[in-house]
Amino acid sequence: MIRVKQLSKTFGSLAVLRGIDCAIQAKEVVCVIGPSGSGKSTFLRCLNGLEDASGGEVWVNNVAVHEPKTDIDALRSDIGMVFQRFNLFPHKTVLQNITLAPSKVRGLSEADAKARAVALLDKVGLIDKIDAYPNQLSGGQQQRVAIARALAMQPRIMLFDEPTSALDPEMVGEVLAVMQALADEGMTMVVVTHEMGFARQVADRVIFIDEGVIVEQGAPAELFDRPAEERTRRFLSKVL
Ligand code: ADP
Ligand code: MG
Repeated sequence: MIRVKQLSKTFGSLAVLRGIDCAIQAKEVVCVIGPSGSGKSTFLRCLNGLEDASGGEVWVNNVAVHEPKTDIDALRSDIGMVFQRFNLFPHKTVLQNITLAPSKVRGLSEADAKARAVALLDKVGLIDKIDAYPNQLSGGQQQRVAIARALAMQPRIMLFDEPTSALDPEMVGEVLAVMQALADEGMTMVVVTHEMGFARQVADRVIFIDEGVIVEQGAPAELFDRPAEERTRRFLSKVL
């Protein structure tokens, strides 16, 4: 579903990604871990064309994301993204936040968009908040709305960039639970996270990125319990 070949990204003289190769299968859940500043967010943003690659290739659903002539908007509506900050529209209700893109981009009728939103709010446990505004919700609730909003476009892939890092600790679990349910349903997911417990439990594969390269990757039990590389061991000793 995703194939990345020798992906590089530079900002001026700063080489942030230095030859990333990886392939992600449909229904796979991949967690990306690594130190701050190692290029994790940049990698994720290159997958949906939020950043242009400086070199190499990014293929998503057989679409060449790295080609300037590719219609990125069409591709992006197939890829949901959830950020650290919830980015909900503050002056719109929960319902409006979720129905906006499906109505505008997918041309859904108001009734269909609402039915879809109701089903998703039910799934993330927030049906009672349908008419609330974002500032009336806790951080964890806002993030669950943000996930529902992304899902309303019926994406084939979901990208998460540290979705729980801005949350108070007591709200982390409710967001991870929604993500786990999504994984159990077979969603293809790439999750940048510092939640090693989640990575161990939910990921099919963990990728450790440091200084713009994939140092090591493998099944969670393998990578966490028997890391092959010294850099991986050093990182894990700080976060586990
Ligand atoms: P991570 O998500 O692993 O913390 P990032 O991908 O956000 O790392 O950033 C990797 C490096 O690229 C950092 O040094 C960051 O400062 C730099 N960087 C990211 N985005 C930009 C940008 N738009 N312009 C310049 N430098 C950037
Ligand atoms: Mg980041």
